[in-house]
Amino acid sequence: MQNGLFSDDELPVAAPRQNERIADMHRMFGVTDDAICGNCQHFVRYHQSTRWAKCSKTRTTASRATDWRARNAACGLFEEADR
Ligand code: SF4
Repeated sequence: MQNGLFSDDELPVAAPRQNERIADMHRMFGVTDDAICGNCQHFVRYHQSTRWAKCSKTRTTASRATDWRARNAACGLFEEADR
């Protein structure tokens, strides 16, 4: 029986939250001590009418759900950016 808009197998799946996504990176690749994502070459900054960033080593979409935080503790894929 269906009580709401969706049956149980039709429920929308929420995108993982930011802290879950960086935690997955840490589980998969480890942590680089004393480094943050904002200094990594895989941290890609965008600037149009607003500013946002993505990690090029993760799945990215146009959604804010895949935006990335510069202050995240760096994962094991960290490579110092040439900025
Ligand atoms: S350290 Fe680099 S590769 Fe790892 S999560 Fe941060 S931006 Fe992505």
